[in-house]
Amino acid sequence: MENFVVSARKYRPITFDSVVGQSHITVTLKNAIRTNHLAQAFLFCGPRGVGKTTCARILAKTINCQNLSADTESCGQCESCVSFQNNASFNIHELDAASNNSVEDIRNLIDQVRYPPQSGKYKIYIIDEVHMLSQAAFNAFLKTLEEPPAYAIFILATTEKHKILPTILSRCQIFDFNRIQPKDIADHLLDIAQKEGIATEYEALELIAQKADGGLRDALSMFDLNVTFSTDASIRYAQVLDNLHILDYDYYFKTTDALINGSVAQAYLIYDEILRKGFDGHLFVVGLLEHFRNLLVCKDADTVRLLQVSETAKDRYLQQAIEADYSFLLSALSVGATCDLNYKAAKNQRLHVEITLTRLANITAVLNLATLPDGELKKKIVQVSTDSAPPLVAQNTTDETAPTYGNGAASSAAPSAATRPVVSSALKTSLKSTTSLAEPPAAGLPAIVPTANSAAASQAALPANGAAQADVATLPQTAEGWEENTNKPFDFERLGVVWKQFAALRSAAGNSMTEQTILNRDLTLTDNVIEILLDNDLQQETLSNLKAELMVFLRSKLQNSDVQVAHRVAPSEVKRVPYTAQEKFEALAAQNPSLLTLQRALGLDYNY
Ligand SMILES: [Zn+2]
Repeated sequence: MENFVVSARKYRPITFDSVVGQSHITVTLKNAIRTNHLAQAFLFCGPRGVGKTTCARILAKTINCQNLSADTESCGQCESCVSFQNNASFNIHELDAASNNSVEDIRNLIDQVRYPPQSGKYKIYIIDEVHMLSQAAFNAFLKTLEEPPAYAIFILATTEKHKILPTILSRCQIFDFNRIQPKDIADHLLDIAQKEGIATEYEALELIAQKADGGLRDALSMFDLNVTFSTDASIRYAQVLDNLHILDYDYYFKTTDALINGSVAQAYLIYDEILRKGFDGHLFVVGLLEHFRNLLVCKDADTVRLLQVSETAKDRYLQQAIEADYSFLLSALSVGATCDLNYKAAKNQRLHVEITLTRLANITAVLNLATLPDGELKKKIVQVSTDSAPPLVAQNTTDETAPTYGNGAASSAAPSAATRPVVSSALKTSLKSTTSLAEPPAAGLPAIVPTANSAAASQAALPANGAAQADVATLPQTAEGWEENTNKPFDFERLGVVWKQFAALRSAAGNSMTEQTILNRDLTLTDNVIEILLDNDLQQETLSNLKAELMVFLRSKLQNSDVQVAHRVAPSEVKRVPYTAQEKFEALAAQNPSLLTLQRALGLDYNY
């Protein structure tokens, strides 16, 4: 590594044609030189490290070259070109306005403008980060910019065009530099690697290009860094991930797979691994959102071109986009965006992300539930129920034998013979939903889906009729992380514990009084249906807003995807306080009937 020259310097382009990804600018500049229509002041705008200064230098070199090629490129051999290449030219002056922004600095520059070039035709003044000049410096500069000598050319460069005064803008020819496309950067890096004899994995170069976010200079320094760290002059994907501390996009694919399949456990484990590798949770959330967005743009032939990922990743995106339902992605983006917004405010950020993952993993199941037409479902359930099975529609009254949480009466749930609801495959295919998760499932809908505790019970309750059996399919119920068809039975005591956990969680999040009231209500458990008794519409509305989250929590904690939450509104009787004289008398008479006898015997009336 002796005499190591950073690639950004060693491979700095020296002709217009070798500038990467800014052809719209280099072509225009070459035309201007050829037709002798060169402006005297230019403003080069664009992100850092995309070639602004490089283009300025090439421009300076080209217009001073004594043997311009037919292609309007500098020869690289004449006296002027050689002095430029050795950084020894007196015709180019650079000022970094970020560190030299005073009036004095600009006066020094203006003083130099007065002297014509000793050799060559033009003197070029490059002022980098020109937006950093002080107001006074700007004013001092403006006069020179208005009437520059014919041999002077000013090139102002900035990353923040909006900070440039209109008086300056109006005197400059403006060029907007692009972020360089990742593919162009990767190809350029490959070119350098080949010249340097460095073995590369193209995917690794693409990764560097992605991370550089359109800046070639950044990409080149990352490239150098990885070469320096490498023991065998190679650049490999896995090492670049490590060296640059980039979260492998493979994690996003794996997480999304887990979420689509409803596997909370898998998603938790992946997230745990990411955290253990030292990545920030927020970074993961933002990355996952971007991943969903990428999948979404793959859904439409017109928007696929907006997919700005490496060529290697493209196929994987297109493949996963087929598996990810459109409504899943919409809901996932909405849930993820909320997590992103609230991340900084969350006290327990890990839990915050985990709750989000739980919600995301439940989207498919919730979407399916939310779009079941109420009447249709009832009809289908009744159609397949047998005489031996108890009524399938949940009772609207509280089962007196059911244990009541909160009253201290804790016993195990009554053994259930209820049949698993079955839905015809035709109906199931009609479940393709477009509903956003933002709308919770219709209140009360889950109440008509009582289900058995075990898969065995459901098998037993299926109609004996073979034809009917072939036609039915069970409700999607493998939405959570545990193994398919291994819903754990739970008793009332266990429900109590989990319920309290949820209430504590919500309370810690600073929930409303109404929500606290609901969560402290008495519960009844019938089979897997938890029923809450509510007082009014406000409580009912609060519950339906809370329901999706509650269900996800209960189902995952109880490891039972059949858990349902139902409610019943029973307005408590309003106690009227006796007000009029007659009411007061009647109230007293109800307690002591002899008052009535007294009233009748004496013929008494009320005193109005
Ligand atoms: Zn030359």
